[in-house]
Amino acid sequence: MKILVLNCGSSSLKYQLIDMDGEVVLSKGLCERIGIDGRLEHSGKADYRADIVMDNHTDAIRCVLDVLLDKARGVINSLDEIGAVGHRVVHGGEFFSSSVIITPEVKKAIEECIELAPLHNPPNLLGIKSCEILMPNVPQVAVFDTAFHQTMPLEAYLYAISYELYKKYKIRKYGFHGTSHKYVAQRAAALLGMPIESLKIITCHLGNGASLCAVKNGASADTSMGFTPLEGLAMGTRSGNIDPAIVAYWMEKENLSVKDVINKLNKESGVLGVSGVSSDFRDIEAAKKAGNQQAAFALSVFHYRVAKTVGEYCAAMNGCDAIVFTAGLGENSASSRAAICGYLGYLGVRIDSDKNAIRGKEIDFSTGDASCRALVIPTNEELMIARETRELVN
Ligand code: ADP
Repeated sequence: MKILVLNCGSSSLKYQLIDMDGEVVLSKGLCERIGIDGRLEHSGKADYRADIVMDNHTDAIRCVLDVLLDKARGVINSLDEIGAVGHRVVHGGEFFSSSVIITPEVKKAIEECIELAPLHNPPNLLGIKSCEILMPNVPQVAVFDTAFHQTMPLEAYLYAISYELYKKYKIRKYGFHGTSHKYVAQRAAALLGMPIESLKIITCHLGNGASLCAVKNGASADTSMGFTPLEGLAMGTRSGNIDPAIVAYWMEKENLSVKDVINKLNKESGVLGVSGVSSDFRDIEAAKKAGNQQAAFALSVFHYRVAKTVGEYCAAMNGCDAIVFTAGLGENSASSRAAICGYLGYLGVRIDSDKNAIRGKEIDFSTGDASCRALVIPTNEELMIARETRELVN
């Protein structure tokens, strides 16, 4: 079965067509500037880039289907070859604890979650509605970023604020990156040759956005992002946890609105804010090497907060068998992995520097005597979405 995986953003759309027999990516690409002018980048039988007018998401998906069918560049002869579409949907609120086949009720629930994810759920929904128009007979599945974390116990998801706010407005921790945490935890168990149900794993998704997850017996027991992705670790441009009183103090000092400060906490903080150099960890690592002190501060804050959160999750799970690193920084930066693992000797983490230097593949980079394993697992959210889609439509 061939599955089309779609990730619709406000003005962009990423796609992959995956043949589930052998899990081979047949084609992938990106539509950008939807609603502005329109640009397609595609790789399939042949690579292709073109400016194509895309007034909306239906236009963009039509464009994707056209190029997939194209004789010279495409990879299918008929739309009937697409067995199902898997959509990444950011927020499923408390409605969804797993992926689901899309029905009118599911769409209604996704719509109800718009106020929790006003930037993400609307384009996700547009993608779903466009596919219904363009491929009315193909089953569609929603895979939620939040679903994996719905297993968190109450003490992990409830904030210590009035319980009324949870009841009235559903203010609680939801967590994000769930598809990635689930995928790498499953791969880690396979790599360790142990059933996931017997393991305590801490997955570290360290990209531009970053979150940790305590995966106990295969289920999320806690995670560092919260009601929104702003909570938790220091990130590329997000502050992560700060004292909430800072917001009011900062507003008064600089005559800013709440919206201004929240925007700065999302877009001008994190390692960008501390370093003053960049939100890209490669730039910051290079600046540190060149002697930039603020770049060194930013990396220290980032590593310390990851390590500290690992400690929290060891307490939450009463131990940890393996730490997994994934996403842009987690997969590629040996120095950051070494710095974080440097805090974790008490846990029995011992790393082999030669193995830690290997890039781009699944590896256990621990020494033989390590009692808590340290792994790199490249994430693959698209494959996870395709697997869950196949499972549901079968
Ligand atoms: P997102 O999907 O959240 O945009 P990614 O998972 O693509 O993020 O990760 C992007 C981050 O990974 C960037 O900040 C980049 O600096 C970092 N990164 C990628 N490669 C390396 C590398 N070789 N060394 C250090 N950081 C890297």
